[in-house]
Amino acid sequence: MSNIRLRFAPSPTGSLHIGSLRTVLFNYLIAKSLGGKLILRIEDTDEKREIQGATEGLIKILAWIGLKFDEGPHIGGDFGPYIQSHRLDIYKKYVDELLIAGKAYYCFCSTERLQKMREDQQTKKQPPRYDRCCRNLSKEEVDKKIKQGETYVIRQKMPLNGEIIVYDELRDEIKFQNTDLEDQVLLKTDGRPTYQLASVIDDHLMEISHVLRGDEWLSSFPKNILLYQALNWQAPKFIHLTLTLNKEGGKLSKRQGDVSVEDFQANGYLPEALLNFCVLQGWHPSTSKVAIADKKDEILSLEEMVKYFDYHNMGTSPSIFDIEKLDYFNGYYIRQKSLEELTKLCLPYLEQAGIIELMQNGKIKMENDNIKFKNKLTGKEISFEYIKKVVKLEQERMKKLSEVGELTKFFFEDKLNYAQELLIWKKLTLEQVKINLQIVFELLKKIPNSEWTNDSIEEGIINYLKTKELKVGDFLWPMRVVLTGKQASPGPFDVAEVLGKEESLKRIKELISKKVI
Ligand code: GLU
Repeated sequence: MSNIRLRFAPSPTGSLHIGSLRTVLFNYLIAKSLGGKLILRIEDTDEKREIQGATEGLIKILAWIGLKFDEGPHIGGDFGPYIQSHRLDIYKKYVDELLIAGKAYYCFCSTERLQKMREDQQTKKQPPRYDRCCRNLSKEEVDKKIKQGETYVIRQKMPLNGEIIVYDELRDEIKFQNTDLEDQVLLKTDGRPTYQLASVIDDHLMEISHVLRGDEWLSSFPKNILLYQALNWQAPKFIHLTLTLNKEGGKLSKRQGDVSVEDFQANGYLPEALLNFCVLQGWHPSTSKVAIADKKDEILSLEEMVKYFDYHNMGTSPSIFDIEKLDYFNGYYIRQKSLEELTKLCLPYLEQAGIIELMQNGKIKMENDNIKFKNKLTGKEISFEYIKKVVKLEQERMKKLSEVGELTKFFFEDKLNYAQELLIWKKLTLEQVKINLQIVFELLKKIPNSEWTNDSIEEGIINYLKTKELKVGDFLWPMRVVLTGKQASPGPFDVAEVLGKEESLKRIKELISKKVI
């Protein structure tokens, strides 16, 4: 049995940041490329930052992304509980051991004292650090203070001199001076553990073999290692993942657009695209001999990533979040979808755009393709087959599922709203447009319903224009605009086919019978 075990350990403080998607993906890839397991652990020891329902939200969005866990609060496992607030007794036990061994101590310093100490340090231009005031309290003093009901935290005793060398799998050795390390808090005044304590204990007890986490934890890395040493435990391997920066080199923040996976989902991004995009933020298939032999480019399925990935080839320079690249991947994966699947994926977005209503008490019966929807713009019934034909015409152009409403609304509308000038092709006048559309109308009318396909529509119109030596654009541009009301859309024959003969003729008729044009 493999002893490779990795964990993704989010705090339930809100939605899943896109940077955390990268973290969970690389954890998954290390685990799976080495034949190991991925564990989900919820780090909810900071009550102040916890958001109600966030854990359920995390589990839901991770399921949508499609990365499967082997153990976790939602599936169980032999190393639970997997939620830190259910493990408080465990932390307490190890803190007691550290206290007895003289490796940790009670600190009774008040918030006010600590505040004043920081201010003094700032004035003296000293680094902010706990001054170890309580480190050498006698047992009697400690007992007395506890008896008097004074609140306390438990701090870890850091070595007072020397240096510590820690090892990151990507960065090799990193040296820290022990004098630079603060006596970190292990247990807070509310009796809850800090991240530093809980993560070390849990990683050990859950037999985690590799810890992959963001490089914001690099500065506390030596303290973690010292804690492993204090507990006489072997530390797992550590890999610190570089930050993702925006194009200007700053932190990704909400102000510059979407940062949570939930936002990307709402905006019509596919999990495949997000994963493919994220994997290139820190690793590249060109580092894999197997990928090169397979002639693999940057388009990678999850299975391919697992096949080619080797964490030793991960990069250590910050990666840049390039949304155009993500859009490119998303368009690519949209084009790869079967029409059936893509249409189903588009339904919620069409509903959101106020175009259709999912009629089965808000639920779509996916197994039944004959299901009818309500066209909210006309009040009429509309079939899944019709929506499928509409989506087919936009599959090539769609970059995000959320664009489907805007791109296809004209297929569902009764009355199109557009400026008449849009009908004009080059030097045509509106009068001429009307005459040309009258001709188109007559040509279309002649095509029997049973032969109403884009090919026969094209044939009927183009043959006529050729015989009469007329300019194609003078007819097809106004025809396309009168059917779509849009500057850009699929071609007029495709649109006419999907709209059907009756609706196409109706749209043209309406325009040509207008008195003033
Ligand atoms: N709970 C920590 C966070 O959300 C986990 C860091 C780690 O992976 O160790 O940042």
